[in-house]
Amino acid sequence: MEAYYIVNDPKDPLAVKATEIRKQDYLFWKDAKPDLEDDFDITCHTLATRTGLSERRTRDITMALYRLAELPLTMALQETYYFLDFSRLITTDAVLSKLGDVPAETLERIDQELSRYLTPSKPRQVLPSNTNLRRKLNGLIAIENPSTEENKEAPTKNNSYFTYSSFSGKAGLAVEFDEATLIAIDEHISKAAEEHGLSKAEALAKLILGEIESRTKVVLHMYRAHDQESAPAFIRGFGWVSPETADNLRPAQTRDMDLAKEMESESYVTPPLIGAYVEGRDGVCRWPGCYRPAESCQKDHRIDHARGGKTAGSNLASLCQHHHNVKTDGGAFYIMDPHTGDIVWLFDDGRWEYDEPQGPLTPKNKNWALTVDQAIAARRAAAKERNES
Ligand SMILES: [Zn+2]
Repeated sequence: MEAYYIVNDPKDPLAVKATEIRKQDYLFWKDAKPDLEDDFDITCHTLATRTGLSERRTRDITMALYRLAELPLTMALQETYYFLDFSRLITTDAVLSKLGDVPAETLERIDQELSRYLTPSKPRQVLPSNTNLRRKLNGLIAIENPSTEENKEAPTKNNSYFTYSSFSGKAGLAVEFDEATLIAIDEHISKAAEEHGLSKAEALAKLILGEIESRTKVVLHMYRAHDQESAPAFIRGFGWVSPETADNLRPAQTRDMDLAKEMESESYVTPPLIGAYVEGRDGVCRWPGCYRPAESCQKDHRIDHARGGKTAGSNLASLCQHHHNVKTDGGAFYIMDPHTGDIVWLFDDGRWEYDEPQGPLTPKNKNWALTVDQAIAARRAAAKERNES
């Protein structure tokens, strides 16, 4: 069966109409966008007054289109399907802007992976939500920060710390650390917040001021390929990090997720190891389009435990509280491929939707990690050659 997104369903008049609107919107702006050089601000201003959009929006749209032009594979997809609206295009530019000026090969690698991510692989797939697209892009750029090899000369004491006043009597604090330190701090604050029923900001203040103590041991969950030399890693609750950061977070314990995939338990409650596999496979709630992280989801027994359903990866899926209720209340039901974790949702009105898992353990993400590993190995070899010559 041909793979496609539901937003592009040729048999659905509503989807066809919405695609036509997106296409016209895209083509309109592609044609109207100003040159970056001459009078960019004035042209944006004029365009804003003539279209009724804000100047900011006009600028964002323009920059998003110039960014897309740097990503030829992704642009080709867009100009075939017209599936990306401007919120998603602007998100793409906003995240990639964090990289600053990058070599062409970096953009090429991002384009390749992004177009692979955005290409539908199954029929009736739900288009990635803006939030999940942002997460994917953040993952792509996280591992692209110029390798420490090239930055070794740079001073290491460039951590920044500053305070600023906000509004209505509030003030803010902005700090910057290396990623490994920040991940540890964030996990510490999250744990204390959970333990004391506080917001993360309150927990941070009370910890620093000595009003509470954090007694819980901080545990970081990191997914990382063990058969690759410089694989990026996925930190639960944080996202993808570079191999350098992963190297700095030395785990006290390692668990084999290939074994966890095959494990079964008699108990109704999911044992931590099986749970870690399910979260690592799913990434987010499995309701198509939901972006709630798997670690804050419930583990749904596809076939009820009481009716003989196993407590095992092949019978468990991450569903957030809300979508778990939707499923329990009836009206929607799913079947799952026990090997790939692919899910087909079936609805009472006869519709169906395809959902692929998105976590670090999926074959797609494993392949990507391998590509990164090879790219980093090549980068290191080139740096070594430069140093030796
Ligand atoms: Zn959900």
